[in-house]
Amino acid sequence: LSTTEQLQSFGERHVTKGIGRIAPGVMKKAEGSYVEYLDGKRMLDFTCGIGVTNLGHCHPKVSKAAAEQCMQLVHGQCSISFHEPYLRLIEKLLPIMPHPSLGSFFFWNSGSEAVEAALKMARATTGRQNVICMQGGYHGRTFGAMAVTRSKTGYSEGFHPLMPGVFVTPYPFWHQLGLPPSTPTQTLTQLALNQLHLLLQQQTSPSDTAAIIIEPVLGEGGYVPAPREFLLGLRELCDEHGILLIVDEVQSGFGRTGAWWAIEESGLRPDILVMAKGLANGFPLSGVVSRKEVTDKLRPGSMGGTYAGNAVSCAAACAVIDAMEEERMLENMKERSKHLLTSLHALQSDPVLAPYILDVRGRGLMVAVEFNSPAPLGGGWDPVYQSQNQKVPPNLATLVAKRCIEKGMLLLTTSVYEVVRFIPALNIGQGEMESGVRVFEDSLREVVG
Ligand code: PMP
Repeated sequence: LSTTEQLQSFGERHVTKGIGRIAPGVMKKAEGSYVEYLDGKRMLDFTCGIGVTNLGHCHPKVSKAAAEQCMQLVHGQCSISFHEPYLRLIEKLLPIMPHPSLGSFFFWNSGSEAVEAALKMARATTGRQNVICMQGGYHGRTFGAMAVTRSKTGYSEGFHPLMPGVFVTPYPFWHQLGLPPSTPTQTLTQLALNQLHLLLQQQTSPSDTAAIIIEPVLGEGGYVPAPREFLLGLRELCDEHGILLIVDEVQSGFGRTGAWWAIEESGLRPDILVMAKGLANGFPLSGVVSRKEVTDKLRPGSMGGTYAGNAVSCAAACAVIDAMEEERMLENMKERSKHLLTSLHALQSDPVLAPYILDVRGRGLMVAVEFNSPAPLGGGWDPVYQSQNQKVPPNLATLVAKRCIEKGMLLLTTSVYEVVRFIPALNIGQGEMESGVRVFEDSLREVVG
């Protein structure tokens, strides 16, 4: 096996069909905002490996810390003894927590596993069984995480029955409430909170409800930031009924939205916060942090896992936090975010492109463009789409992302709606951002032209 073609066809024969891929070829190495393929092709990366390599690929400080840790201790099993990088990481995370009450940590490998742990903690602590999740939410592919995932049936189709006791309430997203994008956030907040109140009266009583789980920015469900008032409304409701609030910051955390955590600007106090992705910039690591009282009742041995909180990943995560601070990542990204949003809004006002663009939204460098669609998913069930211009081709988001990939830029779609998402590295250069926007604009013009 030596050529790209040989390896590609080997992979197609021997890698499970259950994994989908957006771009052809075989990745060989990556640096900063570029991924290099075996055949020498270089791709500008606006995916960050699905929101993971926030500091760019192979950030030298992170790679160095991991390499050094490899020579010291690779596997410091968490049920044998504490290991140093695990504790150093907690030491570094404590001052950046969105609320001082969050002080009890548990590290896992993936976001899904951390969500599983959070759900288990909520059940054990409250002695209640049911969980409320958000329509459009994504929390992972393991059984519990899949049960609270409601962004697309494709994640659970064929795998039922899932974890029982899960109830779903609308996110304050205009699509889900059958309203146009211009709907004021107060209206969306009120309608979504009303539905939740009804759910607690009609479907799962508060005394049976352990937790509500929410992404503060809906990720796979369409890149929709939750209004502050909605988040605070959830907090109030949870306090009133002794329900725990689990905030999933797997995708929105670690600087992605312009602050360490997306909930920072709302001042929300979660009972449990879940993190992963940007935490270790590509090394497998996730974390669950909670109020101490949430974990005090857990039996020793009820949490854990062979590789949970791997020493190399923890050392990498410590270097991520240092690099974020030393390189003033959050300040620098604000300029890039402004540039991206301004450029995309300009496309929305372009007379040729305007009929195709329904919405531009997002926060920091978690940004989406939603296109119009003539009648999505065969039925035209969504009144927002039904009213749109029939000139628009179906599957526009997929067509545009595919065109971008052909032109040398990795770009992802998301959601059942026509959404492309921009998740470049937080330290992407100005020139790289300009190139990315140009490739996107050219691709869109070519597809609709
Ligand atoms: N929660 C959110 C918000 C996510 O975006 C993801 C991954 N896309 C997960 C959980 C699951 O993480 P993982 O893929 O690491 O299991």
